Amino acid sequence: MKQTGDLNLVKKINKTIVLHHIRTDSPISRAKIAEITGLTKATVSSLVNELIESSLVQEIGAGESSGGRKPMMLLFNGMAGYAIGVDLGVHDMLAVLTDLTGKVIRENRIQHHNESVEQVTHLLKTTIRELIETAPESVYGVIGIGLGVPGIVDEEGNLLFAPNLGWENVPLQSQLEAEFGLPVVIDNEANAGAVGEKQFGAGKDTANLIYVSIGMGIGAGIIIKNELYRGATGFSGEIGHISIQHDGPKCRCGSLGCWELYASEHALLEQAGRELGREVDLKSLLSKAESGDAGVIKLFERLGYYLGVGVVNIINGYNPEFIILGGRLAGGEKWLMKPLLDLLEKRSLPHPRKQLKVEFSELRDRSTVLGAASFAVTKFFASTTVSVERN
Ligand SMILES: [Zn+2]
Repeated sequence: MKQTGDLNLVKKINKTIVLHHIRTDSPISRAKIAEITGLTKATVSSLVNELIESSLVQEIGAGESSGGRKPMMLLFNGMAGYAIGVDLGVHDMLAVLTDLTGKVIRENRIQHHNESVEQVTHLLKTTIRELIETAPESVYGVIGIGLGVPGIVDEEGNLLFAPNLGWENVPLQSQLEAEFGLPVVIDNEANAGAVGEKQFGAGKDTANLIYVSIGMGIGAGIIIKNELYRGATGFSGEIGHISIQHDGPKCRCGSLGCWELYASEHALLEQAGRELGREVDLKSLLSKAESGDAGVIKLFERLGYYLGVGVVNIINGYNPEFIILGGRLAGGEKWLMKPLLDLLEKRSLPHPRKQLKVEFSELRDRSTVLGAASFAVTKFFASTTVSVERN
């Protein structure tokens, strides 16, 4: 009996491997998969037939031949199902419906006032429901929901602490699972952003990268050897709370002089509010800078300098290949970049700096939402690929 169980398991593992290659390297032939995986052609053929049967893989026309009969090429069927991704921000949320390859089918951007946890979670549920209802017909339907949040999350998907939202101990995952009856993955927004960049953005070809999310706070998603580093208990990356002034102003985290008090969007808006004598938002600051307002440009340049102070610590501490700066402040790249790079040149250690790239995100403010959707897709394949035999 045991042996039968093991043989089934081996078959399931092999099927997962075959599907992985079709997802990442398609169009690909059966022969090529056999060559890469070391499985026999007969095994690959039989597994591919099952995957075609389960609608996850399609055959397309004949590919190039290296002599002999032209092979049929295999393609991953991204439209076999859909995923929801949400980036829950301090004042807004961005939500997308993607197919299984991460292609955005629909996007909703909603402001919220964070009057209460109930108000925001109600809005969150409404937004998710709207997206689910617009999902095209497909074999597997909506397969799950991924959510990036500005705080720390435990393994059960409880949002333990989100200082900039002012939330503590919110059981978001279980609430959403109960509401929709779908698998839900919740992670820190910077972790989701790092995965978004790694899968869909500038970080595709980089094994060691750090994604720095600059929003109302600052967080980092750390990818080491192609894997997200979560720390011993899942709370790594709270890099906005590195103290850059030992006796600086008090931070909401309890410490003093934290980096995000100087270099976040919140810091920029506070500083601009003081200097202009009224409340301003990022959009209006960006358009003022665009129209050549010297005072506002100076504010961005100073922010670039403060960003540099923290980035020096990241470079010296982690020696990454690539640092990607993301979040809405990426819109200020042309004023932030020069002071930032000047500071890195002066203060980071020369050896870790040598082969380092520092860039603003190409995905702009979509890194987190795409990463969140891809968490849902990954969970679907991890838990069900191997058992998606259709009835
Ligand atoms: Zn702090």
